[in-house]
Amino acid sequence: MTKSVIIVGAGIGGLATAAKLLSKGYKVTIYEKNSTIGGKLNFIKTENFKFDLTGSILMTPEIYKEVFSFAGKNYIDYFKLKRLDPLYRAFYCDGSHFDLFNNMPKLTKSLERISKHDSIGYYKFLSKVYEKYIIADTNFLKNSFSNTKDFINLNSLQKILKINTFSTAYDYISKYINNEKLRNLLAFQAFYVGISPFEGPNIYNLIPTISQLYGLWYIEGGMYSYVKALEKLIVELGGKIITNTTVNEIVIQNKKAIGVKTSLGFQKSDIVICDADFPYAVSNLIKDRYSKGKYTEKKISNMKYSCSTFIMYIGLKKKYPSLKVHNLYIGENFKKNLECAFIGKLPLNPSMYIYCPSSIDNSMANEHMESLNIMVRVPNTLFKNIKWNEKTIKLMRNRIFNELSKIDGLSDIKENILYENYLTPNDLLIKFNSYGGTAFGLSPTLSQTNFFRPHVKSPTVNNLYFVGNSVHPGTGISIVLLSSKLAVEEILYNK
Ligand SMILES: Cc1cc2nc3c(=O)[nH]c(=O)nc-3n(C[C@H](O)[C@H](O)[C@H](O)COP(=O)(O)OP(=O)(O)OC[C@H]3O[C@@H](n4cnc5c(N)ncnc54)[C@H](O)[C@@H]3O)c2cc1C
Repeated sequence: MTKSVIIVGAGIGGLATAAKLLSKGYKVTIYEKNSTIGGKLNFIKTENFKFDLTGSILMTPEIYKEVFSFAGKNYIDYFKLKRLDPLYRAFYCDGSHFDLFNNMPKLTKSLERISKHDSIGYYKFLSKVYEKYIIADTNFLKNSFSNTKDFINLNSLQKILKINTFSTAYDYISKYINNEKLRNLLAFQAFYVGISPFEGPNIYNLIPTISQLYGLWYIEGGMYSYVKALEKLIVELGGKIITNTTVNEIVIQNKKAIGVKTSLGFQKSDIVICDADFPYAVSNLIKDRYSKGKYTEKKISNMKYSCSTFIMYIGLKKKYPSLKVHNLYIGENFKKNLECAFIGKLPLNPSMYIYCPSSIDNSMANEHMESLNIMVRVPNTLFKNIKWNEKTIKLMRNRIFNELSKIDGLSDIKENILYENYLTPNDLLIKFNSYGGTAFGLSPTLSQTNFFRPHVKSPTVNNLYFVGNSVHPGTGISIVLLSSKLAVEEILYNK
């Protein structure tokens, strides 16, 4: 008999899971509280400009493609990828810049211009972190740990020791690289998972390493094209996506999920999959104490959460040729300013990530115009001292423009604005039910990763699964796609 599945939330985790299960004959309905799908991976469209709301950096495209091949489709019929080179242009507050190339001869020459020592150091760093990646990928990222023995065994312990993730990301980088500008450029990337590179384990050096070894990619039409591609696949496979419908409860009877209560009433299903942020979902959608398992209110509030992001979306009436697709700006007192996001302060000299898709894609802005996302890491809303009101937005705006004026070629940016909008941690909290308004969910600290992160299969409730950035294996689009892969494998093969 065909099994019915209800998915709570049409974020990337929910959509990918829906497509995969539909392709195996399940009947799938997704309930999404908002009017648009994609979750945090959303979009803004104006007369002249298009903006990706949040995610823009595409690593490991194979994982994106795998959803389509799993469903027996060719991804080329759904979205188009373009390889980026340089990976990043890094601007520094002294007016200089450095291009991090993907092309090896170009990369080597530019590294040698810094110093031969740093060039050798960079390649050593890549090789060491690559070794860690291969171990982590084989042993940890592809295992759902639904069984304690999967993690607590001699083999796992040996692998953990081999990965040796105990020094911080920044200290590890510094072992190989002397040049501070290059160190900061790598540390900035390790920061993408919302954990400080000065505090977080060196395993997050996987981010710059994977980007360098496998490349960074751009989806034509921006990242939201991937959401549209998944939507197309789901519709073709007969799935239902019901927007503007909030799920208020995951209904559990005799330790078994039997459906959900929505604003439309009770909806019955054989399986429930929750893509809404795990800590929010356990606190709000699971009502009885037993089903929450170890995730009591106290445990949820004591866990560690990633930082958040303030984003400015700017539409400009002229082109800025000095910008690449991905740009980093490393400001003064890099460490001090970066750490503000974890101690409840706003950075005085924000370092920032600047996304300029219109530099290669005319569909993101009218010809001769530019669409920019400027992102600064800031404290999440669990820090109650910061109120995200007009005054705070104005303050952040001024600080950002002050730094932008130090970038060669961007000094007149303020005079050429046609469109301006913002995203604050409050938007992440209210619009997407992201617990604590975080950008990346539960912080991926050592005590909150692998076996110690919430599992994709509920240990207390049968037929209940979780996907998304606060569950194993972690945060970021490709890793959320892995959580979906693990949940689907649990449903298909480990019932
Ligand atoms: C600013 C920012 C920049 C980022 N940049 C990158 C990047 O460059 N590259 C990258 O790989 N990753 C990036 N990420 C991370 C990436 O966007 C996320 O990891 C990923 O999109 C999370 O997907 P998800 O499915 O887990 O959750 P979500 O996108 O949060 O989806 C959950 C969905 O559930 C819905 N929902 C919640 N509660 C309910 C309810 N009660 N009823 C019905 N629906 C509900 C929400 O509305 C939402 O649509 C970024 C994130 C942010 C915030």
